[in-house]
Amino acid sequence: MEKERVVIIGSGAAGLTAALYSARAQLNPLVIVGSQMGGQIAITSEIENYPGFWDAEKVPTGPELVEVMVKQAEHFGARMAFDEVLEVDFNKGSPFRIKTYGAEYEAETVIVTAGASPRRLGVPGEEEFIGRGVSYCGTCDGFFFRGKDVVVVGGGDSAMEEGIFLTRFANTVQVIHRRDELRAGATLQKRAFANEKISFTWDTAVEAIGGNGVVQAVMTRNLKTGEEGERPIDGVFIFIGHFPNSKFLEGQVEMDEHGYIITDELMRTSVDGVFAAGEIQDPIYRQVSTSVGQGAAAAMQAEKWLSGRE
Ligand code: NAP
Repeated sequence: MEKERVVIIGSGAAGLTAALYSARAQLNPLVIVGSQMGGQIAITSEIENYPGFWDAEKVPTGPELVEVMVKQAEHFGARMAFDEVLEVDFNKGSPFRIKTYGAEYEAETVIVTAGASPRRLGVPGEEEFIGRGVSYCGTCDGFFFRGKDVVVVGGGDSAMEEGIFLTRFANTVQVIHRRDELRAGATLQKRAFANEKISFTWDTAVEAIGGNGVVQAVMTRNLKTGEEGERPIDGVFIFIGHFPNSKFLEGQVEMDEHGYIITDELMRTSVDGVFAAGEIQDPIYRQVSTSVGQGAAAAMQAEKWLSGRE
């Protein structure tokens, strides 16, 4: 059993910032990285709304931002465990038990920053064709669709941002949205409407994804007229929101009905000594900058909590 002062579960913007702040407070934090170092930032293209970067030439990509955040946290003493949490036991209070694939830890305090994952559409063919034409990440998979025709499902910021990114590779990007107006912010909407490779189909649901080994078509239905259609396509990119990665915490901390961890303004969870930050507790803002702020706050509170016990 490894004994730790601060264990941070997750390595996205919130986790890496919590690591930086805890490291600078001399707490020698351990970050359990999870399945993807950097979390959702790692699979994001340019990050144009993170403070400090305005020059188009210097706007960092997600992976670039992750790299410097990791280096900075490590520089001050944070340690990274390339492992995933299997289960936790918070019920007996501090020290909290955390079991990963490779180790077992006892942590005086825990900061949960396990983030969120892309929601599935839940239609026939979706699971079958993941990695064979169905994707949730333009940055990761766009390259494979050079000169191809792709569908983007969704009307939010992610759908527009990723749709615009996909036009670098794809021949056409066909946005299929269930309503007749976008949820995305004004700037992204303007850029998407101005992009000649992007077209829009309104009031329409993708009801099935078909193919033979790889995606070849989507089956659609107009939600106003009921008209059904089928369109040949090479790829389907789905951006319809996220769900929190909190399943391993069921029965351990209080959550809302969607699985988001409930925190107070001091980033405290229902368990004394367990804090949470970033998208696992934030269904509203979900920005790199807000996750960074929440991660810093959680680390400061964890430090305060630890020193209050001494
Ligand atoms: P989102 O804002 O929740 O948008 C999800 C979109 O998917 C909506 O247009 C929604 O339609 C649609 N949708 C949801 N469920 C669906 C279903 N079952 N079938 C078909 N369509 C469905 O999610 P997001 O775009 O991932 O953004 C999440 C958060 O991150 C937001 O706060 C956003 O501002 C932020 N974000 C910001 C940036 C940026 O600022 N550059 C980039 C990415 C994300 P309806 O519109 O009809 O509800």
